[in-house]
Amino acid sequence: MASVEIIGLLCAGSMRYHNSLMGRPSGGRRSGDQLTRDELAGLLSGLDAASMNLAFAKYAEDREAERLLIAQVRGWAAGVAVRDLWQIVKGRPTVCNLAALAVFEVVRPNRCGCCHGVGLKANKVCPTCNGSGFKGLSDSKISAAMGIDKSNFCRTWHSRYELVYRHVADLDQRVNSVLGRSNKKEVDNRNVFV
Ligand SMILES: [Zn+2]
Repeated sequence: MASVEIIGLLCAGSMRYHNSLMGRPSGGRRSGDQLTRDELAGLLSGLDAASMNLAFAKYAEDREAERLLIAQVRGWAAGVAVRDLWQIVKGRPTVCNLAALAVFEVVRPNRCGCCHGVGLKANKVCPTCNGSGFKGLSDSKISAAMGIDKSNFCRTWHSRYELVYRHVADLDQRVNSVLGRSNKKEVDNRNVFV
């Protein structure tokens, strides 16, 4: 099974986007100017545990938080599997791999190799990533990492993967809306003193 190997590859090709956290242009912040873990925790206070773990995993490179998030997403996916009567081959870690992969795809988005994450190629919207700067995982990569064949993936597991991916992306959305609000507060406060 190629799962571990491919998950390793995905990690090796990843990069972090601290700068996107506060909505500032990438590369524009000095390292000493980065958000500290305590500041991040303060901004996120009140969020649920899974969203907190996602924030620390994605924006503070916290491996332990990433591990906890994977466990939480696995638990969530297992609940869905029971609820929706997924047919699963006993003893195979398909749902575990699926959860880990969805977390990796949200937490460590693959930079687009065509435009190098810029979203533009020769002053035009990059045709590979449609300007997002990120490249989603192909069906082949996901199915290989999950240890199932591609036709089975397309037939049965693609929609399940989408469901779990959306769950993790929603956590990210929650984090970003909280950060967006505090960002706005910061701007409002600044306006008061101008
Ligand atoms: Zn691109």
